[in-house]
Amino acid sequence: MTTLRTFKQVIPAMDTADGDGVKLRRSIGAMPGLRHDPFLMLDEILSDEAADYIGGFPPHPHRGFETVTYMLEGLMQHKDHMGNVGLLKPGGAQWMTAGRGVIHEEMPQQDEGRLHGFQLWLNLPAAEKMKPADYRDIEPEQIPEATVAGAKLRLIAGQLDIADQHFSGPINGDEYPVTTDPLIVDVALQAGTELTLPITAGHNAFIYLFEGELNGAIQAVTAPAAIKLGDGEAVSLSSAQGARLLLLAGKPLNEPVAQRGPFVMNTQEELYQAMKDYGNGTLTE
Ligand code: MN
Repeated sequence: MTTLRTFKQVIPAMDTADGDGVKLRRSIGAMPGLRHDPFLMLDEILSDEAADYIGGFPPHPHRGFETVTYMLEGLMQHKDHMGNVGLLKPGGAQWMTAGRGVIHEEMPQQDEGRLHGFQLWLNLPAAEKMKPADYRDIEPEQIPEATVAGAKLRLIAGQLDIADQHFSGPINGDEYPVTTDPLIVDVALQAGTELTLPITAGHNAFIYLFEGELNGAIQAVTAPAAIKLGDGEAVSLSSAQGARLLLLAGKPLNEPVAQRGPFVMNTQEELYQAMKDYGNGTLTE
């Protein structure tokens, strides 16, 4: 008998702004108590108005974690201190390991139309926070798609067995090992669909519902909201009216988190060091 994960906590997405005045919705990580180890933060950018996103995210640093960016609509360009330049396009993703230090910018490449995307901050274990920075572009066609009754899935990270088929995302334990073993799935549910997806027991999991409604055992949840899940071997996604969501799971690190803006370390001393290194120009060295 498969143990199903329950809806444990609903976190409505809150309107906020970051970068140079970019309007966004923050759920996981909107406050320190709303993290979900190893997930530090999840932001959604969704606007049809250029004024809401045109300022972008001019050059800024990161240390101690990974950022995963996933685009549904619009174009965003990434440039970093290593000389990487990447264009994020609809259906594509970017996996950046800040490690000991990255200085980068993320700028919209359009001055009209809809921009819709997500950025996830995924923590690194203490032993890997100072590892060399790394960056990987994921083209839309590298993300496997699965169609099952009433649902369409795209697997950005992890492995998934569904409808007697095995899917492996571009970021997975074999070719691109990540200690937190993340699962990231983009799920589109048609109205009246119920879909059960396996999740590794013991991993922390949540849903980010960005369109429509999900019907839990006890309550219905309306977008936009994050839903922290209890433990179990699978989650049952049920939607009477249809829904778009991201399903995320990962191995908890169970380590102290010290955060100041774009730096996420384990202790205050390490944060002071990060600020000092950024100040004297040695963050990335
Ligand atoms: Mn950034």
